[in-house]
Amino acid sequence: MGSSETSPLLVLPADSDTQGPATPEENKEQPADPELKKTLCPYATVGECRYGENCVYLHGDPCDMCGLQVLHPTDTAQRSQHIKSCIEAHEKDMELSFAIQRSKDIVCGICMEVVYEKTNPSERRFGILSNCSHSYCLKCIRRWRSAKQFESKIIKSCPECRITSNFVIPSEYWVEEKEDKHKLIHKYKEAMR
Ligand SMILES: [Zn+2]
Ligand SMILES: [Zn+2]
Ligand SMILES: [Zn+2]
Ligand SMILES: [Zn+2]
Repeated sequence: MGSSETSPLLVLPADSDTQGPATPEENKEQPADPELKKTLCPYATVGECRYGENCVYLHGDPCDMCGLQVLHPTDTAQRSQHIKSCIEAHEKDMELSFAIQRSKDIVCGICMEVVYEKTNPSERRFGILSNCSHSYCLKCIRRWRSAKQFESKIIKSCPECRITSNFVIPSEYWVEEKEDKHKLIHKYKEAMR
């Protein structure tokens, strides 16, 4: 990639086939390549293409999910591939916004602060206990569990309900639902190996 911005080449009207004097700088003018017309426009697929009808590239059909002109009119494999990945991306987005939604008001049972409102952004993390649903910031629960004056059974128990948890899982989001928690624990154990 050069430093100069590349832009799609305009298709010249059919009668301007005659090659003008070669311009010394960017003389990459291509004859309207019919192959390009089969290639989805790199501009239209990520946003808007200002060349519209005159674009040398193919403008696909708009996708219902993302609204971009990305669906190849005849390549059905490409269409279904895009729709599939678009749905997946959308589901991820939804998951993320749900995760933020359920996390944002959670209070730490030790410092009593809303975890997402901690002054230090690096402290806005949860320490999820594997066996109960009491919420703590990672820093607080780690400090609690590292207190040397207590025996290990006390240290490993939740300060609120006393249930012993073998793990504190660091998490950016609050996780409480059984299945989600199971996944989180599994991922954590995998990463610890
Ligand atoms: Zn275009
Ligand atoms: Zn899409
Ligand atoms: Zn705390
Ligand atoms: Zn608890």
